[in-house]
Amino acid sequence: MIELVEVTKVYPGGVHALAGVTLRIAAGELVGVVGPSGSGKSTMLHMLGALDRPTGGLVRVAGHDLSALTDRQRSALRATRIGFVFQQFHLAAGVPALDNVADGLLYAGVPLRRRRDRAAAALDRVGLGHRLGHEPHRLSGGERQRVAIARAVVGDPPLLLADEPTGNLDSAAGQGVLAVLRELHGAGTTVVVITHDRDLAAGLDRQVRLRDGRLEEAP
Ligand code: ADP
Repeated sequence: MIELVEVTKVYPGGVHALAGVTLRIAAGELVGVVGPSGSGKSTMLHMLGALDRPTGGLVRVAGHDLSALTDRQRSALRATRIGFVFQQFHLAAGVPALDNVADGLLYAGVPLRRRRDRAAAALDRVGLGHRLGHEPHRLSGGERQRVAIARAVVGDPPLLLADEPTGNLDSAAGQGVLAVLRELHGAGTTVVVITHDRDLAAGLDRQVRLRDGRLEEAP
């Protein structure tokens, strides 16, 4: 699903955020990316998510060599093959959970009625089938993050990328998010999670550790 070969990323100003990362993640794996702040985790996720280009090396995601794609093709890849979840949920305020999730299909060209049906099914999948009409301010933090996960997977992307998904949650809510990630993994989705959360990391099948832009695979 993912292949990084000697990937480097140098930001303007000369910061070597990635200093030669080689990593393979097979379809269906559930992988944690851990490491101290500033070690390059977010930069690596940006590469995997086709959000940014490497300075050097090869990035292949879902069968595509990202450097060979145009910006438009990379956008299409993101919209159809990759789901994103962030620490800050990024839900639209004042919009019911159902439509927050349905909006995840806006760029897939699915008609509204069908978007809502699929959104309801995705919310059911994350245990929120009883919260379809709730706006974000009426949901707990854990519920908001599960809505965000439902939005990320409503189009059935083969790859889900999560950046500190439990960073704003207490441990009980964090366990709920982990349960949802494990369920997606069980159903065949490849899941890559950046986390500082030890409980979350301990619940993942494999951990890759970054330090100073280099990989140290955990034992
Ligand atoms: P982490 O996610 O592990 O905290 P990051 O990937 O965010 O690490 O950052 C790695 C390094 O790259 C840090 O030194 C950070 O300051 C730097 N960096 C990250 N993003 C940018 C950017 N857009 N421009 C310049 N430097 C950046």
